[in-house]
Amino acid sequence: MSERAVPFHCPYCGDEDLRPHAAEHGTWECHSCRRAFSLRLIGHLAPPPSAPGGTS
Ligand SMILES: [Zn+2]
Repeated sequence: MSERAVPFHCPYCGDEDLRPHAAEHGTWECHSCRRAFSLRLIGHLAPPPSAPGGTS
């Protein structure tokens, strides 16, 4: 079984009837609200700021 990132719910209507939209990676279509969308990694979060409470 191949495991990959799969959205469990449509981000627009919340339905679970999601299917791959095309061969393009990360594209999905919701058969409930008939929307096609893509999941895209925008980037990584910056590391949290250093803990406050230094010498001041
Ligand atoms: Zn939907």
